[in-house]
Amino acid sequence: MKIVDVKAIYPKYKHVQTSWRTNFWQIVVRIQTDSGDVGYGYGGGGIAGVDIINRHFKELLIGKPLNEISDISSLWDMLYEASLPYGRKGLAIMALSGVDIASYDLLGKAKKEPVYNLIGGLKNYKIRSYATGDDSELYHNLGYTAHKFPHRWEGTEKSYDTAVSKAAKARELFGKDALIMTDVYMSWNTAVTVEMATRLKEFNLFWFEDILTPDDLEGQASLISEIAPILVAGGEHEFTHHGFSSIAKANALGLWQPDITWCGGITSGIRIVQMANSLDIPVSPHRGGEIWGLHLMAATDCLDLAEYHSDHIIEDRDYLWLNEPTPKDGYISPTHEPGFGVTLNEKML
Ligand SMILES: [Mg+2]
Repeated sequence: MKIVDVKAIYPKYKHVQTSWRTNFWQIVVRIQTDSGDVGYGYGGGGIAGVDIINRHFKELLIGKPLNEISDISSLWDMLYEASLPYGRKGLAIMALSGVDIASYDLLGKAKKEPVYNLIGGLKNYKIRSYATGDDSELYHNLGYTAHKFPHRWEGTEKSYDTAVSKAAKARELFGKDALIMTDVYMSWNTAVTVEMATRLKEFNLFWFEDILTPDDLEGQASLISEIAPILVAGGEHEFTHHGFSSIAKANALGLWQPDITWCGGITSGIRIVQMANSLDIPVSPHRGGEIWGLHLMAATDCLDLAEYHSDHIIEDRDYLWLNEPTPKDGYISPTHEPGFGVTLNEKML
């Protein structure tokens, strides 16, 4: 097969939010080959990502072979190098992620295999999921046995109390065996983090996520021993195996959370997981319960813990991808359909 068409589209989200984080500026990528096969991918970067694909990546991709996963890996390397002057991280790699995922979807459909089979076969089918969000009661009622609550440092003593009350509530609801985590979205500093570790000790949190900015590798590295056994988690703002290699060299994180639709797709995901495995660092992808991360998790040695976001748990939302699996009693599995097994909701284009 040879690639004959590539198109990126920014969906017509109806549930448009004021914050970019809520729908993450996610884009759709469609790739077609001369065999008539079509693959769909999900990437980031918003209309900037759409332009990178339609005005730059497309002309490089047309005519290229797409028959094996080694072809996808070569395409990845080609696009990374071509976008290097303006890329390496951020929007360009978020766009590249969508191309990579669409290529995997296409290859899976052409071979009539789910993506997990293209990348090694099922290692973990029934994956424990954790619910991210503020509605701890709802997640507990839905059967989750793992939960992550958000916390933001507001600059006063009261912020310690908020963290303590959220942690206490989660631990009480979910019980002593549940995994409880917190995501602080880069709002703490090292002093706050060390104090939090003391004040939250009795609630036995599994990890603190996104403590400092991704540029402060030294700061994060210093926290690893300070707050142990609580893990220093992060990586959703890092890109490609090159970026994670810097994290590894600085020993900055105790748990890696690459976002498969941002960090460079399945190709990057595999490279990052292999690096983490060689260093004995657990990986739990950001939004890993969404279908793209789920196939990677099912076929590789990730931690048995897939994130499921509150914006997926609520019913009043955009349904861009149809047939997405959802967690049942706190566990989630990919379907066995070819490719990623989801269908694009054309009404949203
Ligand atoms: Mg996070």
